[in-house]
Amino acid sequence: MSMDSSRLIFKDLSCVSKDFIKVEGKGFTDSYSPVSGIKINESFFLKDSCDICGRCCVPEENVWTESTIKPFFDDLEIHKEDYIVDEIDFPFEVKMDLAKEFVDSIEERSVIVNGVEKSLFVSVQPKDTPIVTFYGDPKRKPMKRCRWLNSGEDHTIGIHWDKCKIHPYRSVTCRIPHMRIKTSQDGNYGILGVQSYGRNWQLGCTAKFEQVIDENDIKSKINTLSILKQYADDLGIETYLPEVIRYLEEGGRKSCLIEKSNSFTLF
Ligand code: SF4
Ligand code: SF4
Repeated sequence: MSMDSSRLIFKDLSCVSKDFIKVEGKGFTDSYSPVSGIKINESFFLKDSCDICGRCCVPEENVWTESTIKPFFDDLEIHKEDYIVDEIDFPFEVKMDLAKEFVDSIEERSVIVNGVEKSLFVSVQPKDTPIVTFYGDPKRKPMKRCRWLNSGEDHTIGIHWDKCKIHPYRSVTCRIPHMRIKTSQDGNYGILGVQSYGRNWQLGCTAKFEQVIDENDIKSKINTLSILKQYADDLGIETYLPEVIRYLEEGGRKSCLIEKSNSFTLF
C-alpha cells in the first residue's frame, strides 16, 4: 500500500469495525478477531480547543473516498461563483486557481478491501515541498509543511500561511487531530477518546482539553464520526459508528459501552 494517509484511516476503522478488515489481502487489525463493542471514554467529552494553527500540518498525502470528495467537485461545478474557503476572503481568481490546483493534485488509486476493488482519491504532495520556518515562531526548526497551508507571501490579498486552504474539504485525518481511536489491551473493544499525542506535542500544539461539555465541540465530533462512517460505507466496511453516532445524537454525554447487542451500558 502506498504511503498516503489511508493506513491511518484503515487503522481507525479496524478499531470500530464489526468484521475483520483485509486490505490488499492482509489483515488490518491489531487483534485476530474484530472488536465486540465500543467504549466511549470520558476523555471523548473533553472540549478540544484546537485553534487551527497549522503546526501539525505535515506534508502527508491526504485521502478521500468517492462520496467524501464528491461535494468538492460538485461545488466547483455548480457553484463556481460562490466557491468559499472558510472565512478567508480570497478574490475569485485565487479561489479558482486554488480549486484547480486541488483538482489537479488528486490521483485516483485503487485498493482491494475484503476482496473488492475500491477507489481512493489522494491529494499528492510535491516531492520538492520546500522547507520553511513556522510563521510567527522563528525559534521553531524549519520543516516541510503540507502544500495546502497558506504561504502568507501575498499580504495584499490577506493570506496568512498558517491557514488551511482547503479547510471545508479537508480529509477525515485532518479533522481528528486529537480523536484517538484504538483497541483495548485485550483487543476486545474499540475505544474512542480525545488525547494529545507525541507528534503534535513535538510540533508545539497549543490545544487544551477542558473538563466541560461543549455542545458545539460534540457536534463537530459527531460530524467527524459521520464523515468517518461515510469512508467506511464507501469502502464496504460495517462499523459500530452508527450506534456511536446515535448515542451521541440522542444526548449521551457520559462514558459508555456499546455492544453488538446494540445495548448501551454507562460506566
Ligand atoms: S489539508 Fe489542511 S488541515 Fe490537512 S494537513 Fe494540509 S493544511 Fe493541514
Ligand atoms: S497543532 Fe494543535 S492546535 Fe494547531 S492545528 Fe494542530 S491540533 Fe490544532
